[in-house]
Amino acid sequence: EVRVRFAPSPTGVLHIGGVRTALYNYLFAKKHGGKFLLRIEDTDQSRFVEGAEKYIKDSLAWCGIVPDEGPDQGGPYAPYKQSERKDLYKQYVDQLLAEDKAYYAFDTPEELDVMREELKAAKANSLNYNSITRNNMKNSLTLSAAEVKERLDSGEAYVVRIKVPAKEDIRLKDMVRGWVNVHSSTMDDKVLMKSDGMPTYHLANVVDDHLMKITHVIRGEEWLPSAPLHVLLYQYLGWGDEIPEFAHLPLLLKPDGNGKLSKRDAEKHGFPIFPLAWQGQDEELKGFKEEGYLSNAFVNFLAFLGWNPGTENEIFTLDELIEAFTIERINKSGAKFDIQKAIWFNQQYIRTSSVEVLATELLSQTKENQVECTTENAKKIAALLQERIDFIPELYSKGKFFFSAPDSFDDKVVKKKWNDLSQSVLTTFSARLKEKNGLSAEEIHSVFEEVLAANDTKAGMVMQILRVAVTGEAGGPDLMKTMEVLGTNEVADRIKKAME
Ligand code: GLU
Repeated sequence: EVRVRFAPSPTGVLHIGGVRTALYNYLFAKKHGGKFLLRIEDTDQSRFVEGAEKYIKDSLAWCGIVPDEGPDQGGPYAPYKQSERKDLYKQYVDQLLAEDKAYYAFDTPEELDVMREELKAAKANSLNYNSITRNNMKNSLTLSAAEVKERLDSGEAYVVRIKVPAKEDIRLKDMVRGWVNVHSSTMDDKVLMKSDGMPTYHLANVVDDHLMKITHVIRGEEWLPSAPLHVLLYQYLGWGDEIPEFAHLPLLLKPDGNGKLSKRDAEKHGFPIFPLAWQGQDEELKGFKEEGYLSNAFVNFLAFLGWNPGTENEIFTLDELIEAFTIERINKSGAKFDIQKAIWFNQQYIRTSSVEVLATELLSQTKENQVECTTENAKKIAALLQERIDFIPELYSKGKFFFSAPDSFDDKVVKKKWNDLSQSVLTTFSARLKEKNGLSAEEIHSVFEEVLAANDTKAGMVMQILRVAVTGEAGGPDLMKTMEVLGTNEVADRIKKAME
């Protein structure tokens, strides 16, 4: 059985790359009739961000990605939150220590800083604590057994590090990138357990993937450098025959393709790169949802950021994505973030949405703005605006004239079309409408035709000024239908007022 997991750390707002990782995992699981797990990797207490876990869950829910197992769903391998699994990791650390595959290290953070400075001065990029340098450090490989015991007994702070072999090739096959070969001399003796007794990401991640019977690890490319270490850990723990398959997803790139997409890009260009809006202590982030994207349009856009079905078709429901998804069709190269494409998807989805769905959105907007609107009218307005908007909030913002009389009128049209003829037409039209109410668009149209005939003129001469009188704007949806929604009485009043 295919079992995959999305394993975010609640250390910040889940950005679009994270949601894409979740989506691809979900699609892969469903395609193969497998399970999709949500696992919260919160062992790094120092980077904990309040609200981040809820944000992750809300974002997945908005996208329609429902975990089969997770903190809220439970499941056979609960708990699914690493901080609640803390005690379980220790036995694996002990096992590695006993087998000489890991060791205690007593270097203080200050000592490590000094070492880092020295290395910087020597123009080495970073501190590699590994088979080459570990002999200069303070650890159980360099100290006598008696001294190690003494330090441990006296309660001195320590970490446990993995003992990476000096000269070994570590190989793994990535489903996206192919074979990856790393020489162990370039690898770090990464910390497995911190001084607070918490496992690090590497250890907890590997242990949990194993215990939770994960078959495929699908995650962002930034984790590719960690993969050899994870493979080594599997081998060290005696699980070398059960290493999951890896698929590392391409980076999301800036719109111009130059470098990784960042929060700064979103700020600079004013587009969202987060699923939901976020209000943190000192930052406010835009969300696709609040900007007016439909979740199925967002998901469709997301699926195409680094993957394509190999056909011309671009519009896919979630079920169709499941059907079409394969890891083989994930691109190796980074995916450029293109907001125009997101807008295009949104237009397509708005255009093909049912009027009922749009009407529901509109009704929640009118309610929020404390404006009255009947369900029947909401449907009519939604149908009139469906082809004219890119974003959901425009149902209200571009339809404001449906709810209140204009207080300003398009100057250009007024200048050009405000004359004796149009005044005479508008006056009679308004008077004729005032006599009746509840006319349909067709009926209003015939009244209009009669008035035009009586004034010996054509629609083209006065249509625009009529629109401006009724809506304030030079352009908009079908005017007869608009007037039907407004009601003939209201239209008559608006025209009268406009002429004052
Ligand atoms: N906790 C890691 C993250 O925040 C998980 C990486 C992985 O999927 O292995 O992305």
